[in-house]
Order: sequence, then C-alpha cells, then structure tokens
Amino acid sequence: PGWEWGWYWETGRLADWTDRQTDRQPLTPLSPRPRHNDLPWQLLKRFNNRLGLPESNLTQLDGTHTNIPKLNAGHVGGQFWSVYVPCETQNKDAVKRTLEQIDVVHRMCQLYPETFACVVDSAGIEEAFRNKKVASLIGVEGGHSIDSSLGVLRTFYQLGVRYMTLTHSCNTPWADNWLVDTAEESPVHHGLSSFGKTVVEEMNRLGMIVDLAHVSVDTMRMALNISKAPVVFSHSSAYGLCPHRRNVPDGVLRMVADKEGLVMVNFYNDYVTCSDKANLTDVADHLDYVKRVAGSQFVGFGGDYDGVTRLPTGLEDVSTYPALVAELLRRGWTEQEVRAALADNLLRVFRKVEEVSGGTAPLEEPIALEELSGECRTSYGYSDTSGAGPAPLLPAALVLALPLLSTLLS
Ligand SMILES: [Zn+2]
Repeated sequence: PGWEWGWYWETGRLADWTDRQTDRQPLTPLSPRPRHNDLPWQLLKRFNNRLGLPESNLTQLDGTHTNIPKLNAGHVGGQFWSVYVPCETQNKDAVKRTLEQIDVVHRMCQLYPETFACVVDSAGIEEAFRNKKVASLIGVEGGHSIDSSLGVLRTFYQLGVRYMTLTHSCNTPWADNWLVDTAEESPVHHGLSSFGKTVVEEMNRLGMIVDLAHVSVDTMRMALNISKAPVVFSHSSAYGLCPHRRNVPDGVLRMVADKEGLVMVNFYNDYVTCSDKANLTDVADHLDYVKRVAGSQFVGFGGDYDGVTRLPTGLEDVSTYPALVAELLRRGWTEQEVRAALADNLLRVFRKVEEVSGGTAPLEEPIALEELSGECRTSYGYSDTSGAGPAPLLPAALVLALPLLSTLLS
C-alpha cells in the first residue's frame, strides 16, 4: 500500500550516476529498503503508531524498507505515504483507522521537520524539492476507507489526502477489485456502480487523484472512461510481462496513455516475475515495457516498499533507487525520460488533476441504503424516524397519533 518516487537533489548530471554504478562504486551503501510506501502501516503494526518510543525513532528504525538514512541514501525527494488499513476493517472501524494513519503521517512531518515536508499540491512538492525535504503526501489505499460516504471522502481531502485507490483487495459496495478477475471472486458491479461513478466524479471535483491499482479490469476501463482528469496506477506492473491480475493489461496501458495518466511499476517479486524471485533487471524490464507500450511520459516508479514481503535482489529497500536509475540509463533512457519517470510524470498528472478540479457544487446524493451492509451501521438520514435500521411500525403509529393527541389537549 503506498508509493513513493525518487528525485535527485544533486545538480550533477544523472549520467554521472551510471558511471559510478558501473565502476561498482555506488554513491551510497545499499541496504534493504523498497519503494511504494507503507511505512505508516509498519508504524501501526510495530508501535501502535507511537513515534516517541526509542525503537520507533525513524533515524534508526530497523527491519523496515524505509527509515530516514535509507531515504537519504536513496535520494528520495517525494513520497505518497499510504494510509492503508486492511479490508477486514470494512464495515467496522475503517474510517477511524484511516484517520489514525493520516494522523501518524502528520505527526511524522511534525517530528522530523528536517526530513519531511507535508504538502498538499504540486507547487508544494516542487518547493519541498527545492528545500531538499521529502515531499510527503497522503494516499488512501482502498475505497473501503471512506465507508461509502462522500462526506468522509471530502473530509479526507481536507486532511490532505490527494489520491485514493478505488479498492484494495476486496470489493466495496460500489466498485469491484482485481480478485473478481480470478477464480477467487465473482464480479458484483462489473466495474463501478452508479455510486462508484459519483465517487470518481467527486474526486475529480475535489482534485484527488484516482488510483486504479488493485481494481478489476472492468473498474479500470470504466474509471478511465469517465474520469475528467488523468488517472494513475500507483503500484502495478505490466500484465504483458507477468500475467498477474494485479498488473495492467496492454489495452489498459494504451488507455492510460490516451488519458495522459501514469503507471508506476510495482517492485513486488510476485508481480514482476510471477514468482517469488526477481532482480533489479526484471523491474527495469517492466519499466521498458510500459515505456514501449504506453510511452515514456506515462511510466513511473511504484515501489511498494513496506507493503510487501519480497523484493528483487538489488532493490531491497528505498536506498537502492539509484541502482535502478543507473540501469535505465545503461539501457539508453535519456536523462529527461528518467527524470520524467522519477517525478515529472507524476507532477504533470497532479497539475492536470488540480486544473480539472472545482467548478461545480459538492455532490450530495448518498449511496442507497440497501447497497450497504454491516451490523454496526445506523441509518440516520435515510428515514425520518429512527437511525437504527428500517423505521419500526410503532413510531410510525405514534407519529399519526400525535396530531390527534395535541388536538385533544388544546
Ligand atoms: Zn497495494
């Protein structure tokens, strides 16, 4: 869950990096650390989001793909921190847990102002780059986090959320996930329901990036067709190289290009080679592939660091990005193309999303009550008598009796 992208702060030419890598003199010691970034999830699992513990100190955090020295070594200049919470929170405490993950990202920025700058727009990213901070943005990884509420979606935006993945690995009441393209699950919505389309429309209006990692192919196509702004795959690889359903098929890659969106390649071994083993060159093959099928303006780095258990040899943690950059340069990518994959493509998408936003009033039509499930849900607003499920008969009878009673009493 989550993604990050690197940016080179050095003013020197990127080509210098290739030379130094070729001479087997990496600019930085390589240590285990990955990309697309789920650090907040690790902070929850390991420390219950307590950042003040000696062992959760981000300058020396151990056993994760991400910590401050590794970010520095990897020359990471920007990061969408994933505020992922698992599908099992759906219809339970998904909203509360997501809020807590948003809070931990905010606190990270407050606690380490020398390293992180929490920003909410493309201009903020560029300013953070100039100040040599890690531009820190927030992405919600899975539509279950909004509990089918446009009010929650808008509130997340107010709190700094700038992308949302429409599903994680479960259907929401309004969108199908990638598992429906496998034998494991059957399609329910065949893409997006009518409310799902409203969610995408509201994200466009807010200026929140639509992320299609984890969704079914029908959901991908439908969202690509209806979104007014470019969409991204924050951490998905190429289906043409590894036919895993979490990856993006060629036809969809071309739709992404037509839409001027972005596919950020996931480094997870299982999505790269369809096996548990992979190395850096396998990831470079995916970047080459997306570049060839979609174009160099539509490819990016999608890491998935701290969200996955297996990473390719040579890309073990966030400090290893320079080695991948060197490999792309060796393969003939121009400096401009590499910079595009690292940051410029995402900035272009983000600016366009910002440009498309606004214009209309907030969308207000709620999801139909019968499309929701879950035991601990009230239904205030759906009926005028009670918040606890369908209006019982007795209160309805009382409502009828009340005018009568008041007539008698007056
Ligand atoms: Zn994910």
